[in-house]
Amino acid sequence: TDVCVFLQVNTSGYYRMTREQQAVEQARRAFLTGRSRPLDYRIRQLKSLRCFIAEKKADITAALQKDLGKSENGTELYEMLSLEGEIMAAVKHLPKWAAPRPMEKNLLTIMDEVYVQPEPLGVVLIIGAWNYPWAVTLKPLIGAIAAGNAVVVKPSEVCVHTAKVMEDLLPLYLDKEMYPVVTGGVTETQELLKQRFDHIFYTGNCMVGKLVMEAASHHLTPVILELGGKSPCYIDKDCDITVACRRVTWGKYVNCGQTCIAPDYILCEPSIQDRVVEEIRKCIKEFYTDDPKNFADYGRIINKRHFKRVMALLEGSTVALGGDSDESERYIAPTVLRDVKPEAKVMQEEIFGPILPILTVSSADEAIHFINSREKPLALYIFSSNKKLIKRMIAETSSGGVLANDCLVHFTVSALPFGGVGNSGMGCYHGRHTFDQLSHLRSCLIRGLAMEKINTVRYPPHTTEKMRW
Ligand code: NAD
Repeated sequence: TDVCVFLQVNTSGYYRMTREQQAVEQARRAFLTGRSRPLDYRIRQLKSLRCFIAEKKADITAALQKDLGKSENGTELYEMLSLEGEIMAAVKHLPKWAAPRPMEKNLLTIMDEVYVQPEPLGVVLIIGAWNYPWAVTLKPLIGAIAAGNAVVVKPSEVCVHTAKVMEDLLPLYLDKEMYPVVTGGVTETQELLKQRFDHIFYTGNCMVGKLVMEAASHHLTPVILELGGKSPCYIDKDCDITVACRRVTWGKYVNCGQTCIAPDYILCEPSIQDRVVEEIRKCIKEFYTDDPKNFADYGRIINKRHFKRVMALLEGSTVALGGDSDESERYIAPTVLRDVKPEAKVMQEEIFGPILPILTVSSADEAIHFINSREKPLALYIFSSNKKLIKRMIAETSSGGVLANDCLVHFTVSALPFGGVGNSGMGCYHGRHTFDQLSHLRSCLIRGLAMEKINTVRYPPHTTEKMRW
């Protein structure tokens, strides 16, 4: 890279650019060469990303084990498989996604060529979170590469080991000028946010989401905010409670509850609360044995700060299951709270840990009212055998996504746009949706210079005679 990449001029002379400025400048220069525009370049990069995942699986797994206590199979199942699927789909469908999209014409344009042409936006900033650090950082990257953008990748500093693997190994596989990885914490992210981007894709909490949006507004940069919140789970008394609780237990305690779409709390009628607690107890034992602490498939809280935050949420509520912990290992047992009050501490923020409060409601109507009285969640789960009730709850509530009779699996369907609404985020991604969101969908109309006669009516003077035409 030549020296002017690192020096910037201002009124008092030359000064050295920060590492973040350099990364953005390099990415912008790379983008302006135009080499990311041809589809074969994008496909080569995507295939190379796939090689990275395949060849560096051991490094990826070891880092996740240190950061989050994730098992090898858990990593494969919850992070790697979906990334591979996403890459394969992008490689396969890219020619179709990137092709001009003919549009319906009106009478005035009947002879013209009218189409939408997806075009790259420029330099995209991807800021990742730590809970599924590969999925939330590389999935948007896949779509951004497919769309022909340059990308500055900022992994979360909270997953220390994973960020290091991303920084050290990703550039060995990708065009490192086009896709630089910038590591660091709040200071570095804020420095990045001062730069001008053509799009910012942020995954993380709502509070920082607001800061990202504010910074983006200085350059009128569009944003996708993949945020979190409290995703409710309604269990109707008219359903197979055994099956419902198996699925809820899985969705809640996978990754130690640190899943953006984990069911945050259960709403059910008082008559089934005991049964729900008992079924979850059986499932916890079946999935994680009597000793989850020493069981490979049960994870850990990411760091001491979050450990303390999650433990503090227990304050003032009745523990029905679990509740024990070990700070030295950042271990919190799978925990269920019963008869939780809406004003309890655990109901004031996203839990993002292995604590599952149960709140009782007198009916589905009260559940709907409860859900609507709070911020719009990222996911809503409804367990019921009554299809009419499911449809009614969907019609009378709002959430980023909704899933009936299971947890989390809507995330795996690439055809479904994944994203929040209101406080749980804006914009969406997965599959073609990422491609479209990170492209400019440019309206194109091409006409010839012939047939000038039919334009007469639009040129002044607008005489009555012309209007009669
Ligand atoms: P985090 O602390 O890693 O923060 C995310 C990113 O924001 C990091 O890269 C970090 O450097 C940056 N950051 C943090 N503070 C900042 C500041 N003051 N200024 C500028 N940048 C800053 O992750 P987190 O926020 O703890 O992530 C957990 C949250 O993410 C949860 O709310 C969860 O629901 C949500 N989440 C959402 C999705 C989704 O797809 N919607 C996926 C995963 C996580």
